[in-house]
Amino acid sequence: MSSFPEFLIDRFRRFKHRHFVPNADQYEELARYGQSPEVMVISCCDSRVDPETIFTAMPGELFVVRNVANLVPPYETGGNYHGVSTAIEFAVMNLRVKHLIVMGHSGCGGVKAALDQNAAIQTEAMFISRWMSMLDDARLKVLSAHQMSSTAEKLKLLEMEGIKTSIKNLRTFPFVTDVENKGRMAIHGAYFDIASGTLSVLNHSRGEFYPL
Ligand SMILES: [Zn+2]
Repeated sequence: MSSFPEFLIDRFRRFKHRHFVPNADQYEELARYGQSPEVMVISCCDSRVDPETIFTAMPGELFVVRNVANLVPPYETGGNYHGVSTAIEFAVMNLRVKHLIVMGHSGCGGVKAALDQNAAIQTEAMFISRWMSMLDDARLKVLSAHQMSSTAEKLKLLEMEGIKTSIKNLRTFPFVTDVENKGRMAIHGAYFDIASGTLSVLNHSRGEFYPL
């Protein structure tokens, strides 16, 4: 049972022949001069919403961080290990990306755990429930404003509210607001609907998502 999955060996060989070899010059250039992506994407771990597939990205184009429910924690400088904050700092300060996109999606298991708090507690999902507590305020906002909505509607509303929460948290990072205010970097929210393949983009002033 310790052997590397056969199907991944096949897929890797396919990648090597169909993708790497035809683009070998580009890979060599990236290896020699380093990466300089213009876009950072913060998205969910969900296997159905890969940003590089959705944006048909080439190597070196997207700097991606994926975590459960595409969350950005608030800025804090305590003694813990801040993986997301480290990636944001590197992308903004070192790579100097021009766009930072927080991309959520439909049917998000993490957001569902936040909406249905009991499920997370019952399964003793210690890490998930603590991580998803970042959406506590958003959850209360959705539940109080949409009492009559169905569970599916509430989930979609919380998925979208979660993107706005991450953007709000992004703006607690001093170096993020600094470059945003100077016009050096723009922050975007996006929502991918898996069933229809629709990508909707957040209009910041209206606080609503509009399909592309
Ligand atoms: Zn998700």
